[in-house]
Parts: sequence; structure tokens; C-alpha cells
Amino acid sequence: MPGLSKPDRFLLLYGTQTGQAEAIAKEIAEKADAQGLKVDIHDLGKTEKKFNIERETCAVIVTSTTGDGDPPDMALKFFRRLKKKTLPDDYLVNLKYALLGLGDSNYTNFCNAGKTLDSRLEELGAKRFYPSGWGDDAVGLEVAVEPWMEGLIPALCQLLGHPYKEIEVGLCSVKASGDNKSQTENSSKSDISKEMENSEYLKDEHKTEANGDTFQKNMSNIRKEEGASGGLSNDKIKKSSVSEVEYATLQTSVLPLSGEALAIPALSQAYLSLEYLNTEMEDNNIGETIIQNGVPFPSAASSVTMATVLSSTVMTHPEALKKTISLRLGIEESPFDYQPGDSISVVCSNSEEEVTRILHRLDLVDKADRVCQFSIIPNTKKKNPTIPQYYPPVSSLRYILTTCVDLREPPKKAFIRTLAEYTSEEQERRRLQELCSKQGSSDYSHFIREAGVGLLDLLMTFTSCNPPVERLLEQLPRLQPRPYSVCSSPVAEPGVLEVAFNVVDIPSGDGRTFDRTGVCTGMLDRLTSSIQRPYTDHCPSSEDGDISDQVANLQLSPLKLPIFARTNQHFHMSDDLTVPLIMVGPGTGVAPFIGFLRHREALHAKMADPTMYGDTWLFFGCRHRDKDYLYRKELARFEETGILTRLCVCFSRDELDSDTPRYVQDNICRHAVELVPLIDKGAKIFVCGDAKNMAKDVNEAVIKSLQEVKGLDTEEAKKQVMRLRLYKFYLEDVWT
Ligand code: FAD
Ligand code: NAP
Repeated sequence: MPGLSKPDRFLLLYGTQTGQAEAIAKEIAEKADAQGLKVDIHDLGKTEKKFNIERETCAVIVTSTTGDGDPPDMALKFFRRLKKKTLPDDYLVNLKYALLGLGDSNYTNFCNAGKTLDSRLEELGAKRFYPSGWGDDAVGLEVAVEPWMEGLIPALCQLLGHPYKEIEVGLCSVKASGDNKSQTENSSKSDISKEMENSEYLKDEHKTEANGDTFQKNMSNIRKEEGASGGLSNDKIKKSSVSEVEYATLQTSVLPLSGEALAIPALSQAYLSLEYLNTEMEDNNIGETIIQNGVPFPSAASSVTMATVLSSTVMTHPEALKKTISLRLGIEESPFDYQPGDSISVVCSNSEEEVTRILHRLDLVDKADRVCQFSIIPNTKKKNPTIPQYYPPVSSLRYILTTCVDLREPPKKAFIRTLAEYTSEEQERRRLQELCSKQGSSDYSHFIREAGVGLLDLLMTFTSCNPPVERLLEQLPRLQPRPYSVCSSPVAEPGVLEVAFNVVDIPSGDGRTFDRTGVCTGMLDRLTSSIQRPYTDHCPSSEDGDISDQVANLQLSPLKLPIFARTNQHFHMSDDLTVPLIMVGPGTGVAPFIGFLRHREALHAKMADPTMYGDTWLFFGCRHRDKDYLYRKELARFEETGILTRLCVCFSRDELDSDTPRYVQDNICRHAVELVPLIDKGAKIFVCGDAKNMAKDVNEAVIKSLQEVKGLDTEEAKKQVMRLRLYKFYLEDVWT
């Protein structure tokens, strides 16, 4: 067991859902290590037995928040243990701690997991040695996380009585702006970049034109067009210098940034080496390989299984703004338990085309399908280097780029720093350095994070950037599965899962160099295109025929999808059908409620006294009655049979008179007089869909309704809604 009094040592804990908290914790560990501190780092979810927080004197905790303000799935046990009422007030009296919470201010319970833990640690006698930090994904985690981390290390050193030394970050000085040939002197120029100057990377552009590859030509045309227009039209930040108005773009900066000395992150140490064997990788099934590798996903409630795609139906008119697909999956071969309100996560892969583009751009097509193996560079300066768990021991580059890494996630500053190191052209290198520098923070937010610029966009824009693929694989984050609410009921249709999703469409522009679809929804759309039923204004489940027919139809080439269950902690309807239910779900937010209604229908048939069936309301909204009214027929049936006692639908873009509600919240206010008594009778309110606007507006509408019907003042009405939330009578499952 780690000793209490070991000097220079501290405990570093992280609770992670998608890997962000883990990455930040590892960065803290590296910084502390560079100071000569000893770090005991643990994942809260995996290794609680390996540390004893009550025996510690100094701990740093980084935790994200998930769902409706909940701790990361895997860290739940740790949180529950500290929550125990039986713990004495001085349980952690010896502990000094610093806490960083991660969250998204679009959600009502911003950073709730971190905040709950922070106050619980205090209640148990622990003392903060450094103010808690709150990273907000809505504005970019780095905005709060970077300064928090910067102050943490000296505070740690002071607490542990360890001398703090300024660690030199890379510093660049540059001549005044307006000088087209800005001279960059990189005071931290590493051996790698010196090596690079003599290497073949500088000659890469010539290879591009010489091999006559059409793709490469297209890509270089795109680059030329962008160059000719002085950058992309929509990606400009207007800034004025003394004599003229200039615009910054992803590629170029203006004063004052272009003339500033920059503080850039230290270059991360190279540690991965890749060896290519002389055999080709056999064509492997992605899902099966993921199962064989057995590498768990932190959010998984069950292990990954292969589901059979039974049908894929387009639910929206071709002219609808968004294409919505209903996907029905057979899980009879490897069933798992779930309830309506839960979601399944789809293990997705990157598009073949995007991977091929990257391989071309890095001149790796010849090696892409050869069996490759990772090892750790001997004598690497990286502390405790390990091969990421999610890289299979034997694989191919194409497989890794397709299934293991997220190519779309806007690169973090440390990643851009690495890219700059391998960029030979001076102005390009300088711009990459700016984008990862302290001084260039707002350019980073605007041109990288908010624009959703990914690795391929940067490689296409900064054409002299030629990093070895190993350096990319050290920095690329893991490709995360995407969750989808289930619309089915295990009671109504055992062995079948249904989800409904929008195909995310992201046009080029703002620095994005090509049109793209969302990673997962694009994959599902492409994968099922050959069996996709076109839009025919019908609801999928009730008119798709018998499941066995569907399976039989697919037997020739059954399409399988790797999925796993993700249990929702609170978003479940009561099995007691007498409890009134109020559901609010515009767009695909209706998905879980279709599951609720199917479940209720099945349970209703078995109800001893069906007259006791509770009020069941649904507020649904879409853009046009005739284009995107999801589950229209099925909802009408539920209304006819009384499973839905009230269906309130609104159409935001059909022609409306001034009286007609446009959005779900308008309908809530309109029906306040009937709705509020239901809330008073103990109705459970469920809200699902968009977190950014809808969920907040619905919250306001409920407050307003309580005010109007019960004559409460705003504060009282707000408190009532807060109480409803606290006691889980008002539940949200929302996503940005
Ligand atoms: P990604 O590749 O992840 O792309 C989405 C990203 O692209 C977003 O970050 C967005 O900011 C960015 N983006 C989008 N448009 C643009 C643009 N024009 N310019 C720049 N960037 C852009 N979704 C459903 O449809 N149905 C569901 O039932 C459902 N259930 C969910 C349940 C839970 C518990 C959660 C957490 C989410 C749920 N989602 C659901 C959302 C879903 O998980 C995915 O996030 C969504 O489908 C997008 O995944 P993707 O891989 O296709 O897109
Ligand atoms: P959407 O874009 O939210 O649009 C549906 C309807 O809502 C449209 O009529 C839209 O009108 C309207 N709307 C716009 N702003 C609104 C506001 N402030 N208040 C109320 N209604 C508003 O629907 P969607 O495309 O299906 O997207 C739903 C979102 O929920 C997606 O982000 C999806 O990923 C997520 N989702 C999450 C879960 C979950 O967390 N469990 C489940 C399903 C879906 P206008 O466009 O005309 O303004």
C-alpha cells in the first residue's frame, strides 16, 4: 500500500467516459514527472483496490460528467463508496486535494460529477490545496484546463515541499507582420526536426505529382483553389492593423498574432515504433476482430456482440432537411437485457475513402495492408510508455486507421505541436505553431475546434507537413462508439432492437477540405444502403412484416453490426402503469418514447384493471407534417388505442398562423392548465433530444406553466422544478 509520508509523491485519479479525463490526467502526470515528482496514477473505474484514498495525504482528481450529471459509468462504484452516510466527518481529514471537473455547460447539471465529489470530499474533512477547475466542452475544454494545469504543478510542488523549476516550453520569435517571409527561429528545435531537414519528407510534394494518382491531383487542386482565394471564404476572423483590414484564416494569421513571440507546448516524446512484415493482412471482419481483441469500452454495460441488421428504413421525405433512418437489429443470437430508456452503442469505423486519402497523403499506400506490429522505441524519453490497448498486437495500418482511431476529432494543441515539428515550409510551420500557442488560443478555438477541422483537413491544408505515421498514432484519440436510444421494448418484441438516427451531414468550408457525413451515422447509412427501404410514409416496425421473413431475406448476406448495451442510470419509466407520464421529444428525441409506448402497450394488455392506466402524454415536434413526422402512423395508433392519452404535435416550418404552437415548449405552455395537475399528481417528466436549445426552453416552459397555473413567483417555480429534478421526477436524456 502506498505510504502516507513518502516525499514528492501524490495520487492522481481519473474518472473517464470517453478518454478526455484520462488524457488530461496523463498530461498532468507527465508535467509532474518532469518536475521530479512521483505520481501514482489510477483509473477510478478499474483499480479502486489499488489505492486507498483515506490513507492519502495528497491527491489530484480529474473526472468527467456523463448523462444527466452522472459520474462516468466505470467510476460509479468509487462515487457510491464515498457517498455512504456511515462515513465519519473526519474520514479524509489527512487529505489535501485538487479537483478538475469536466462537463458541458449546455447541460443543466454542468460538471455535476466533479462538483458533487468536490463537496463530498470537503464534507469528509479533506482540504483543497488548489482551487477546483471546471472544464467546459461547450467553449473548449482547453480554455479552463490549460491555466488550471499550469497553476497546479507549482501548487503541488509547494505542497510537497519540492523545488519547482520553470520548464522551458518551445519559444518562437518572429519578425514583424507584413513580412511575407516571416523568419521563424525555433529555440526548441529538436533533433527530430534537424533530422527531418535532411530527410525524404521534404521531397514529398514531388512524389504527389509524379505518381499521377487522380486522387492526389484532385487534392492538390483543392489546395490550389484555397490558396488562390486566400483561404476559405467563411473562415475569416476580421482584424485590423494600422493601415489595412486583414483576415486570418486557417492557413494565415494577421497582426498582432503574426508578429508575436509564441509560447508553445513542449514537444511530446516519440515512443511508438511500427514494423511492417512482408505478409499481407487477411481481410478481417472489423466487428469480429474487436470482439476477439476483447478490449473493453469504458461506457460498455455489456460486452460487444454482433447484431444482425434486419431492416433499414428511411423515415423522412427526400426533401426533408435531415435524413432519418430507422434501423432494426436482431439480437436473438446473443441477447442482452435492456429497458426502454437505455441506449445501445454502435462500434463504428471510419470511411474507407477517408482512410485511403490519409494513406495517400502520407505516401503509405504500399504498406497499408501489410501485417504490422507495434513496439516501444528503445530508450524513448517518454515516461512509462505503453502501446495503447486498443491497437491490436498484430494488425495492418489500414485496419488501425479504419477502426481504432478518431480521425475527425479536432487535433489537440499538443498534436498540432507535433505536426508543426514535421512541417518543412516555414510559413506553414509558423502557422501551426501559432495555432497551438498560448497567444493563438482564439485562433485555435475558431479555426480548429469550432470548425471541426480534423487531421486530414490539416494535412491537406499544410502540404509540407509530413509526419511519420507512428507520431500520428501516438496522438490520435481512440475512436469512440456512438450511443443511440432504443425505440423498442424487450417485452413487446423480444430479440429485436430498434434505433432511429439522423445522418449527420457536414459540408466542406470553414477549413474543412471535403464534404463528410458523421462517422457513425454515415457508416450506418452506407452499410445499409443496399437494403435500405426508401421513404414511403410508413412507420417501420408495424409494416415491415414478420421478423423471421426479414432474417430470411438477409440470410444470403447477413449484415452484422458490433454493438453493446449502455444502461441509463435513471431514464426509465415505471412499470406501474398508473403513474402519469409526460414525454417531450422533438425530432429523433422521440426515439426512447416509442420504446416507452411499445412497452406500455405490451404491459397494458396484461393489466389487471386497465381503467387504472395513467395519463400518458407526448409532446412531439418536427419541421413539416409531410416530411419528417417520425413514427406518424404508430403514434396515431397509440392515440387511437388509448396508450397515448394525449398527443401534442407541432410543425416548426409549416405555414402557421400566429396562434399555432411552433415548438414543443409552446404546446407545453398551451396545455399548462391540464399539465400542472398531472405534475402535482406525481407524473414523471421525461425530456429527450437536443441539449443546446430545446431542453433549456422546455425547462423554462415548465417553470412558466407552474407560475401561471399555481400563481407562483419565478423563484418558487424554479425551486419546484429543481426539486422535481432532484427527486427524479424530471429526467433528461439530451445531447449536443
Ligand atoms: P460525428 O462524426 O460524431 O459528428 C458529429 C460532430 O460533428 C458533432 O460534434 C458536431 O458538432 C459536428 N458537426 C455537425 N455538423 C457540423 C457542421 N456543419 N460543421 C462542423 N461540425 C459539425 N442520435 C440520434 O440521432 N438518435 C438517437 O437516438 C441518439 N441517442 C443518443 C443517446 C445518447 C445517450 C447520446 C449520448 C447520444 C445520442 N445520439 C442520438 C447522438 C449520437 O450518439 C451521435 O452523437 C450522433 O449520431 C452523431 O454521430 P456521428 O458519428 O454520425 O457524428
Ligand atoms: P432537431 O434538430 O432538434 O429538430 C426537431 C424539431 O425541433 C424541429 O422542428 C426544430 O425546429 C425544433 N426545434 C429547434 N429549436 C428548438 C427549440 N429551441 N426548442 C424546441 N424545438 C426546437 O431534431 P433532430 O435533428 O432529430 O435532433 C435531435 C437531437 O437530439 C440530435 O442532436 C440527436 O443527436 C439528439 N438525440 C439525443 C438522444 C439522447 O440523448 N438520448 C436521443 C435522440 C436524439 P426548427 O429547425 O424549424 O427550428
